[in-house]
Amino acid sequence: MNVLDMLGKHWQHGHSMFGWCSDCGSPSRYWDDVKARRAPKPASFDIDLAALIRERGADSLVVELAPIPCPRCGSTKSETWVVAPSKPMRRRR
Ligand SMILES: [Zn+2]
Repeated sequence: MNVLDMLGKHWQHGHSMFGWCSDCGSPSRYWDDVKARRAPKPASFDIDLAALIRERGADSLVVELAPIPCPRCGSTKSETWVVAPSKPMRRRR
């Protein structure tokens, strides 16, 4: 079995990652925005996998990855999701 445990392996397989901020995604934040007549902010954000590898290293284990701060509010109460491409592919460095 091919275990994708490290950031570099996800990169090689063409996966992408996104984060979800539980502060931006909380219902109270949503209703604050609605009451203030602001457009509710989306809670998910794209993660630049290449930048993450430069920052943390290609051999960083995804399961041990420290939370990625939300780019909007800076909260580290975020979850990280890996998105596999619909078609398997290999990316060359
Ligand atoms: Zn946030």
